Amino acid sequence: MKIFHNPLHAQHAGRQEMFRGRMVPCHEVPARLDFVLAALQSRPLGPLLAPAIPDAELHAAMARVHRAPYLDFLAHAWDAWVAMDQANAERDALPSVWPLPSRHGFRTDVVPRNFAAQLGLYAFDAGTPLMAGTWAAARAGAGCALAAAKDVLGGARSAFALSRPPGHHAGPDYFGGYCFLNNAAIAAQALRDGGHPRVAVLDVDYHHGNGTQTIFYARPDVLTVSIHGDPATEYPFFLGHADERGAEAGEGCNLNLPLPRGTGFAAWRAALDQALNAVARFGATALVVPMGLDTFAGDPISGFQLHSTDYLAVGQALAGAGLPTVFTFEGGYAVAEVGTNAVNLLEGFAQAV
Ligand SMILES: [Zn+2]
Repeated sequence: MKIFHNPLHAQHAGRQEMFRGRMVPCHEVPARLDFVLAALQSRPLGPLLAPAIPDAELHAAMARVHRAPYLDFLAHAWDAWVAMDQANAERDALPSVWPLPSRHGFRTDVVPRNFAAQLGLYAFDAGTPLMAGTWAAARAGAGCALAAAKDVLGGARSAFALSRPPGHHAGPDYFGGYCFLNNAAIAAQALRDGGHPRVAVLDVDYHHGNGTQTIFYARPDVLTVSIHGDPATEYPFFLGHADERGAEAGEGCNLNLPLPRGTGFAAWRAALDQALNAVARFGATALVVPMGLDTFAGDPISGFQLHSTDYLAVGQALAGAGLPTVFTFEGGYAVAEVGTNAVNLLEGFAQAV
């Protein structure tokens, strides 16, 4: 299994995020990826590569799932933030004002000139700081996802895009949940564009993959499945319920399997079987797995009870789908164990194929 890793990831290193009225240290830190790299050094799964994708090709792949004004916003966000006030160069950008949904009469069709308002237009939380290196890091991460998809299109059984910031909370034109560009969606779309008629995305992160769901919600050619903490109590709260089944031509092509906080491996594994059955029924010819390790019992911001050895079984079960598979790196915040758990899952997969 080739591992496409993002050499620029550490340029995105947030200082603080807003949590229940307090500024707290960021959970999504560069050390997360370094722990995975360290685990891969002691248990190598394949060559470690830093992809070089031509600019035009990468931009085209990003533009297949993200809207042009949003990509333009991200590309220029840091400069605009500093232009507001030179002192901002020492602060991460976070939004503090948002338009409510359009039923309340707030306009989202007019992009405000005030950059602080633009942050609110394109972000859905105050927990996702944007800084000088965010765009470079996120963009290089999208390149990892695209390279992994191309590797699989070229005949590889599997590939791993090891990058941060993560991606599955990022929608067509919004960021949040520590995510800016939806790496899993970019990989899934690249697999479609490369000739796979039906692609499934099976999100195993603790949190609902709201961005990926939204991007493909009306599409009959991409099945999105997510196993996650019940949004009634868990982030991202406003999407991820079981009755969200897809829309228009994509009706029936979205499956949410919310589980209560405290769920252990037996119940989680049963949901995984349900998810894999849906992937098989859909007739997918390729699979993307947004791999979050925050289902781990020791994760500081999540509430499932999976243990390190369980991830070997998760990898084995995913291999049982028999599909060419791209893995992306999503959540997982218990930094000491995130490397072990990631490599356990991938090794379980690799040994079972
Ligand atoms: Zn998560």
